[in-house]
Amino acid sequence: MIFKHIPLDRVSWITTGFLGITLFLALTAAPAYLIMHGMGGFMAAMFAFYMIATGLSITLGYHRLYSHLSFGAKWPVRFFVLIFGAAAWENSVLNWACDHRRHHKHVDHDDDPYNINNGFFFAHMGWLLFKLNPEPPMDNVNDLRKDPWVRWQHKYVHLIAVLVGFVLPMVLCGLYYQSWTAALGGLLIVGILRTVLVQHATFCINSACHYFGGQPYSTKHSARDSWVMALVTYGEGYHNYHHEFQHDYRNGVKPWQFDPTKWSIWLLSKIGMTYNLRRVSEAKILLAELTEARRRLEHGVAFCNSKPLTDAAKVKLQASLDYLHQKQEELATHYYQVQKGVTERVEFSKSKVRAWRRDIQHSLDHLDQVVSRFRAVRA
Ligand SMILES: [Zn+2]
Ligand SMILES: [Zn+2]
Repeated sequence: MIFKHIPLDRVSWITTGFLGITLFLALTAAPAYLIMHGMGGFMAAMFAFYMIATGLSITLGYHRLYSHLSFGAKWPVRFFVLIFGAAAWENSVLNWACDHRRHHKHVDHDDDPYNINNGFFFAHMGWLLFKLNPEPPMDNVNDLRKDPWVRWQHKYVHLIAVLVGFVLPMVLCGLYYQSWTAALGGLLIVGILRTVLVQHATFCINSACHYFGGQPYSTKHSARDSWVMALVTYGEGYHNYHHEFQHDYRNGVKPWQFDPTKWSIWLLSKIGMTYNLRRVSEAKILLAELTEARRRLEHGVAFCNSKPLTDAAKVKLQASLDYLHQKQEELATHYYQVQKGVTERVEFSKSKVRAWRRDIQHSLDHLDQVVSRFRAVRA
């Protein structure tokens, strides 16, 4: 019996029921409605607005503003993210930030509420289905508790979620199309389907973003950078960077990286709605990249040296290994230069930073070539 292994006394029935029923309706009733009735322009616009408003309220509001204090925001922004954040059905900002701050502090360990070492499903949504025993104290959000609006949202979060998340789209679609069927569509598509999509996008940050992708800034934790995940998580997919520099308002720190949350914060700062945007210095970021690149090179060279080779194979590979050693030394020189720059707070020119980055990339590309050549020779 599979149920024998589930601690039924600890199941959080309301959360489990809500997640289960909305997911079931999103997979059955919502597509059935779309096939039978389609979606008019107004409903499509409402759906798009709600996807963006509730999604960004979580990433920009719950996450980067309230959990990490990575920028300041005027009251219209704070009010908006509290209302539409509630409509994303991810509990109050106090609860959310409390869990998230514990996640950063204890990442990959027992006190991490969505510890990826307990498996992909646990980190995705399994952790929500069971109550913790005993419930950890909410002692890491005292700064947020001082805000009366945050306390107000915490008190009425479920009422706001029902009214703004479900009732409002139902009423607006019903009134616009003057039909009960359209009201049902508003509830199913803009209310329920949208809630499920935004929730699972958030869940992916805790599961997939600790599972798939590269680790250019640090391998001290499981967080990963993935542009694919960035596409579905409003830019939160650059999670390796985020765990390394959690107080930076940017997650996709490179100019070409897809991070609509970062763009929104920046645009809002241009009209005075957000301020004090916190950025990590370019030198510190480069130092993290250099540390990681050097670690990978060292690891690769050690791997090649650890396996016995025939004399002929050694001759074939020696030149590549020598080149790799040379690259290692070059990166070490850059590293000490940048480290000195960080301690003395020197700003490096853009062209210099670009050149160093190019060198890191060349070294890593070369490493990949040598290791695959090594594997081929051995095979
Ligand atoms: Zn994380
Ligand atoms: Zn975070």
